[in-house]
Amino acid sequence: MPGVTTEAVEPELTRYPALSAYRRQTEGPARTPLIPPLPRKAPRIRPATPLRVTPNALRAGIATGAGAVTVLWAAQATPSPRLDVLFAGGAHLTGLLAGYGILVMLFLMARVPAVEHGVGADRLARHHARGGRHVLTLCAAHVVLALLGDAAHTGTDLVTTATDLLGYPGIAAAAAGTLILVTVGVSSARAVRRRVGHGTWQGLHLLTYVAAGLAFAHQLAGPDIAYSPAGLGLWSLLHATVAVLLVWYRLVVPARQALRHGLRVVDVRVEAPGVVSVVMRGRDLGLLHAEPGQFLRWRFLTRRLWHTALPFSLSAPVDGDHIRITVQAVGAHTRRVRRLRRGVRVVATGPFGALTAHRRTRRKVLLLAGGVGITPLRALFETLPGGPGDITLLYRASNAERLVLCEELESIARTRGAALHYLLGPSDAAFDPLAPQALRNLVPELADHDVYLCGPPGMTAAATRALARAGVPEDRVHAESFTY
Ligand SMILES: Cc1cc2nc3c(=O)[nH]c(=O)nc-3n(C[C@H](O)[C@H](O)[C@H](O)COP(=O)(O)OP(=O)(O)OC[C@H]3O[C@@H](n4cnc5c(N)ncnc54)[C@H](O)[C@@H]3O)c2cc1C
Repeated sequence: MPGVTTEAVEPELTRYPALSAYRRQTEGPARTPLIPPLPRKAPRIRPATPLRVTPNALRAGIATGAGAVTVLWAAQATPSPRLDVLFAGGAHLTGLLAGYGILVMLFLMARVPAVEHGVGADRLARHHARGGRHVLTLCAAHVVLALLGDAAHTGTDLVTTATDLLGYPGIAAAAAGTLILVTVGVSSARAVRRRVGHGTWQGLHLLTYVAAGLAFAHQLAGPDIAYSPAGLGLWSLLHATVAVLLVWYRLVVPARQALRHGLRVVDVRVEAPGVVSVVMRGRDLGLLHAEPGQFLRWRFLTRRLWHTALPFSLSAPVDGDHIRITVQAVGAHTRRVRRLRRGVRVVATGPFGALTAHRRTRRKVLLLAGGVGITPLRALFETLPGGPGDITLLYRASNAERLVLCEELESIARTRGAALHYLLGPSDAAFDPLAPQALRNLVPELADHDVYLCGPPGMTAAATRALARAGVPEDRVHAESFTY
């Protein structure tokens, strides 16, 4: 195959036209791209919000809140050596922390731009998943301690205590809320989630709002909140704030964006087997303030797709009234995207994600893409500021047929004086193009680069390990995974 090696060392840019010629031969004449690669000065994109909450600030904020909840509990607690009082005290603390945890979970998913753009959607999803497990543990501890406390107080066995307690409406409602949380937790376990499908999983997640409401009512009746006017005020304010953020960013903003931009599909073009680019046209797209590297959630208003909002990264910077994504068919919905017709209305919400220029700390940048993970990196390749030699793009794929957007990448590389290498070959081949030494050979002074990394989870994990072994500090590897 001209211009293609499975050894993955293609340091010469002069070889790429040969590869383009190969692709043209197999796919027919090249078409004029609707969004051409822009061989001019990298455009300046104003971010949607100048505020970005860093991951450390988010962690510190959450921990401070948990500390404040513990202080609120300690202010009400009556020290006593009695077993029932000790159990009850533990039940109150775990109950309050579980309630706070539910609020944090909702906040993390409220899509607040400063948090989304600073922390990144995939890291937020990981925090959410880990936090969900903590909340369930706290709920379980609360139930057990409350039962033990009441049983010790009344001198009855646990079953009688549980039956008696469930007779109180407040406790029954809280039990229903806990059951909902457990169901959501179980449906999120990897093995179960694969079977239930994204729609069912999302539907179950919506029930957590009901669980949060039931938990809130239960806490209001408890002594820690009910007997403390300051506690009651603070607790209510926290809940009201999260509720307003949720309504604003998950309902009002998407509705406003849908009305404002009036997006419609104008072209669907095949990039490679199973991969299409969808170009859309809309009004006032500059007001999205979508930065290269970010993604939006796209709802295509067809009979089979309107009910799901799929996340796809921008595969080119927004260009006037055009916006483009590039989609690989992996499941039922993405297969339908390939069949979209011209004129279909689209509702896009966003932008989201933190894989943007603001994370950069070094002059030299390595963009490392695997498979369809090229999409956000293609947009960054064009727009990251830098002179000749500053930017390198490594694009890993199993073979040349699976490469997409090559002509654009090559044109950008030529125009910017950037390096572009295709790393081809099956993942189980003897030669590993992502091994530390192979990376160092391709990218001189690798340890002094910022690395933007996007690809399938296995490739991302392997590349992260290799980069660490090649001397790139962890905080200079900016990765995004396409999985939830
Ligand atoms: C931040 C981000 C950016 C992405 N950018 C791109 C891109 O530029 N190009 C590209 O081809 N793919 C991209 N993806 C992946 C793409 O979103 C999934 O492949 C697609 O949603 C799968 O949909 P499906 O129903 O066809 O597949 P399924 O087989 O049903 O699902 C495959 C996987 O996608 C997840 N998924 C399905 N629907 C959704 C949804 N509505 N929201 C979130 N996850 C969902 C499922 O949980 C499952 O893990 C991106 C994903 C994320 C998270």
